[in-house]
Amino acid sequence: MSPRIQQLTEMSWVEIEALDKDKTVILLPISPIEEHGPHLPVGTDIFGAHDIAQLAAINVVEKNSTLQPILSPTIPLGCAPITADFPGTISIRGKTLYNLLVDFCSGLADSGFKYIVIVNHHLDSMHLKAILEAIETVCERYGIKMIETAGRILYSRMPLDEITKSEEMGLSMKTEIHADVRETSFIQYKYPHLIKQDLEELPSVHIDIRDGLKKGLKTFKAMGAGQGYIGTPARATKALGKIHLEEQAEITAEMIIQLISGQPLPEMSPGILKYLKESIQL
Ligand SMILES: [Zn+2]
Repeated sequence: MSPRIQQLTEMSWVEIEALDKDKTVILLPISPIEEHGPHLPVGTDIFGAHDIAQLAAINVVEKNSTLQPILSPTIPLGCAPITADFPGTISIRGKTLYNLLVDFCSGLADSGFKYIVIVNHHLDSMHLKAILEAIETVCERYGIKMIETAGRILYSRMPLDEITKSEEMGLSMKTEIHADVRETSFIQYKYPHLIKQDLEELPSVHIDIRDGLKKGLKTFKAMGAGQGYIGTPARATKALGKIHLEEQAEITAEMIIQLISGQPLPEMSPGILKYLKESIQL
């Protein structure tokens, strides 16, 4: 049986004070409420962030039973300007997300926590930049250690089973962008009752986002994604959804152990970091 993961909200201050903070890590899931096509719920990324964090916490304990992962409630907020012209997307400003995370994580640091892992399932540039800047501010202020997960997993060019399996299906991750085969597979695997329509009715939608942005188009809808997805949801399988969840959780658990033991972590590619630093304004 899986170990039961401690929930932050279920603890008393006395229990929190008594934790060995050198062996404790807070997992903080975050992602916005956002449209994910006609076929997926607006909470798709919230479910993703939470489920990966929960499974990663279980994996951490299984790898090293002296470590104490604690699961924070999911923050259901983020920046999603690119889908904000659909009902159901709730996008907050980059500055708001930055301030929110600085305050939230400062509260955790004031409570004595030394390791905070932000488990994210949403790769909007503004969202990612706000998270990374908040991490920098809090780490500088308190001398604690924090990381964000999704950027390090997807932008470090590490080999991923999920990508290999998708490529075997003839799909490229360059064109699977949003509410695509991966996200649809995840919901099909974990929350099949939340699939809203027959996936076979959804034609592939391929859009060159870079080209759209260059032309000054600001949303997926303006770029031609009229139904709110970009990719091939019709090809989703439960098997791919299982890989998505388990692989992300496994890598997140490894990163948590690397963070606590001071080992090197996978880093986002310099090109992406430069883009976030120079081209995105909070
Ligand atoms: Zn998503």
